[in-house]
Amino acid sequence: MGLLTNRVDRSEIKPGDHIYTYRAVFTYSHHGIFVGGSKVVHFRPEQNLNSSTATTSDFYEPTSSLSSPCPTFPDCGFRQPNSGVVLSCLDCFLGNGSLYCFEYGVTPSVFLAKVRGGTCTTAASDPPEATIHRAMYLLQNGFGNYDVFQNNCEDFALYCKSGLLIMDKLGVGRSGQASSVVGAPLAALLSSPLKLLMPSPVGVATVTAGMYCMSRYATDIGVRSDVIKVAVEDLAVNLGWVCHDEDVADNEASNGQIVS
Ligand SMILES: [Zn+2]
Repeated sequence: MGLLTNRVDRSEIKPGDHIYTYRAVFTYSHHGIFVGGSKVVHFRPEQNLNSSTATTSDFYEPTSSLSSPCPTFPDCGFRQPNSGVVLSCLDCFLGNGSLYCFEYGVTPSVFLAKVRGGTCTTAASDPPEATIHRAMYLLQNGFGNYDVFQNNCEDFALYCKSGLLIMDKLGVGRSGQASSVVGAPLAALLSSPLKLLMPSPVGVATVTAGMYCMSRYATDIGVRSDVIKVAVEDLAVNLGWVCHDEDVADNEASNGQIVS
């Protein structure tokens, strides 16, 4: 991977960092927020937690199995009922994968130089305290339903770092806009001069990676104009998410208000 990676050593990451690792032989990355103390808060499909099938277990092993507790930390794998936001230790988060650090505030040229999407953003990050506050708040209150295109582990980490959410014409929200986020920008790019930046079509995989990279740029929260900053305490209200534990939400909301 060479210069195209953001691989870091464990000693280099700081609380509040957005970290990620690759699963399933570099076809899938999993993202989380390092909150210190060798702990990571991350988001994963809720249905996977409630299912006994192992169809996606390779994404999330070994923490997805509640029946095999972590040998290092007794609270590893902690989550609220019906929530996909999970607290794991760094070992379980990484599995056998390497550790990478997501970059914020990169220039568009750097962004486009990254062949692999989902490793950086042009958006600025908030201070680590704000990031950790959002991550811990969402650990207690959930982050809505996991959607691999719209509300996934990377969105979760991006939100924790930046506080930014994409706003569609119906208001704040993400569900149901897969076509506008993934389809439309891609179609527009393929008919625009930007396609000249795409790698030559030496193979389907290369073209796909290039298209993905371009679409990432068009949908990067640092580039889009339809993003808004939302305080974590207002997430559930703004997005109409079902609050699974209103008592906890109310208590949390009245504690440490870090609103950027
Ligand atoms: Zn663990």
